[in-house]
Amino acid sequence: MKHSAASAAAIRARLTAQLADPIPMRRGSLTERTVKCSRPGCPCKDRPEARHGPYFSLTRSVAGTTQTRLIAAAQAATVRRQIETGRQFRDATELYWGACERLADAEIARLADTAADRREKGGSVRRSRRRLRMRSTRS
Ligand SMILES: [Zn+2]
Repeated sequence: MKHSAASAAAIRARLTAQLADPIPMRRGSLTERTVKCSRPGCPCKDRPEARHGPYFSLTRSVAGTTQTRLIAAAQAATVRRQIETGRQFRDATELYWGACERLADAEIARLADTAADRREKGGSVRRSRRRLRMRSTRS
């Protein structure tokens, strides 16, 4: 990833704070639309600027199905901010996962090295090389 070690510390601090105290944030996306009605003579039929709305809806995919929830216009800005906060949290979580998985790889690499050392003492160098190659493809 494009983040330096310095920002990794900042990400850790941010995640720690966010996990300690739940804050308003959410997943999903907010869509805004205007609509035409079917009332006879209503100007919305011919003029886009006379359409009704805007109406806001929050959509979110849950277990493969899309959930939709209507949001009042007065709530839209707040929901937008909550979604942005949620996006930042998700990004930080991904970076955190990356750091954890690098540590996990280092941990199992040490075990492989130890095993390779033992095998080399027993004289089977070829086998340990194959092991190391397999490990390096799993990053
Ligand atoms: Zn209308």
